[in-house]
Amino acid sequence: MFIPTKQAARNSLESFIPKCGSIYAAYRNYDREDTSNSTVSRISPWIRNRTLPEWEVIDAVLKEHSATAASKFIDEVLWRTYWKGWLQLRPSVWEAYQQDLTKLCESYSNHSKYTKAIESRSGIDCFDIWNRELIDNNYLHNHARMWYASIWIHTLKLPWQLGADWFLRNLFDGDPASNTLSWRWVAGLHTQGKSYLAKRDNILKYTGNRFKVEVALANEAIDVDPVDHPSPIILEEFPLIPKGKRLGLLVTLEDLSAIDWLDKKAGSVAQAGYFPLDAYKKHNMAPSVIKFHQDSMINQMDKNMPLFTDQDAAKVLEWIKAESLDGIIIAEPPIGPTQASLKSLVTSLEPAGTICYWARHWWDATLYPYATHGFFRFKKAIPSAISQLKVNLLKSKQQSLGI
Ligand SMILES: Cc1cc2nc3c(=O)[nH]c(=O)nc-3n(C[C@H](O)[C@H](O)[C@H](O)COP(=O)(O)OP(=O)(O)OC[C@H]3O[C@@H](n4cnc5c(N)ncnc54)[C@H](O)[C@@H]3O)c2cc1C
Repeated sequence: MFIPTKQAARNSLESFIPKCGSIYAAYRNYDREDTSNSTVSRISPWIRNRTLPEWEVIDAVLKEHSATAASKFIDEVLWRTYWKGWLQLRPSVWEAYQQDLTKLCESYSNHSKYTKAIESRSGIDCFDIWNRELIDNNYLHNHARMWYASIWIHTLKLPWQLGADWFLRNLFDGDPASNTLSWRWVAGLHTQGKSYLAKRDNILKYTGNRFKVEVALANEAIDVDPVDHPSPIILEEFPLIPKGKRLGLLVTLEDLSAIDWLDKKAGSVAQAGYFPLDAYKKHNMAPSVIKFHQDSMINQMDKNMPLFTDQDAAKVLEWIKAESLDGIIIAEPPIGPTQASLKSLVTSLEPAGTICYWARHWWDATLYPYATHGFFRFKKAIPSAISQLKVNLLKSKQQSLGI
């Protein structure tokens, strides 16, 4: 269903664009069995690795709709950037989650309720069907994710961290920020006093009555300690990429569009891909998820570009020598397994004198600093991001016409 190519991504987006205005605003909460009639875009797997970067999606939408008509859809795309910015400003939230997870994975490895949940044997019909859908299709509708997470946390009373981990391992769009922070929100840990409770009537209404939901769902949320978010850090400023150097571009699954924007910005003389295969395997990512992202990379890279993994530090060094590179450039990876893996690669290259330059795309640089509080405050930055998008598009058109 999700073909890992740019063309398939564009086709999906193009076919959904007519629905991005009033149809999306009115019907996005319906989880339809017939996906050909979907009222959500189902483009998240390609947005996740930036086969379809956010700015390209919004640009395509604005060609057919006004910003007001498509505001609901644009807001949702911006939720992704908001979550990423929010976590980038608070790395300790990810670290704490990882520490909890290590302990919980051990203590729950033979826990019967947990095992039944992930084996689609919870006895709650809708939950078990969504779990199968998650494993088979590596995708769930947003509303199904909310109901699923709510049942996991408030009805089955399983730790939210294990549910978040299960999603991250199985979703094609599994994203450390959107996923972890959405699970925290359902648990009531993100916004003081707000947790999400799935209700039978609501599930029946938005799924066309295709489930029975005979098991009573929790009508009270679990108790959580009062929310105390760490203060946002100041984002690191990266030094300018020097001119006149022989630089190699390392592209990761966090931003496949860097093949284009970062190459233009830095003028690289060689390009290679980097996939944190070992880190992904250690995180028990589903083989289908690994394959989706690896294939996405391979399909977008030039056939002659090498693809390294996190076991290949020596090969990366050989490549640097063979191409006589002065340094490498990488699009800043967001918090998560890829970031951790890249940091250790860069440390291992340092003794050989390889300099690594990091770069932040203007989209992230413009928007992340606004993710200090809630989405409402963040939203105020959307018009300036859209204006910047228009200016940049005009500039690149002029450049391509030689003006
Ligand atoms: C418990 C839970 C876990 C989630 N985990 C992830 C995850 O790992 N990765 C992920 O990308 N999204 C996650 N989401 C958000 C959302 O469910 C998906 O982005 C959305 O369902 C993707 O389907 P779509 O492309 O049809 O979305 P559409 O509704 O068509 O929206 C278009 C795009 O906007 C973005 N988007 C939409 N809604 C959200 C949202 N609430 N938060 C962040 N971005 C959004 C996505 O990139 C999406 O592709 C999660 C939500 C919940 C409740």
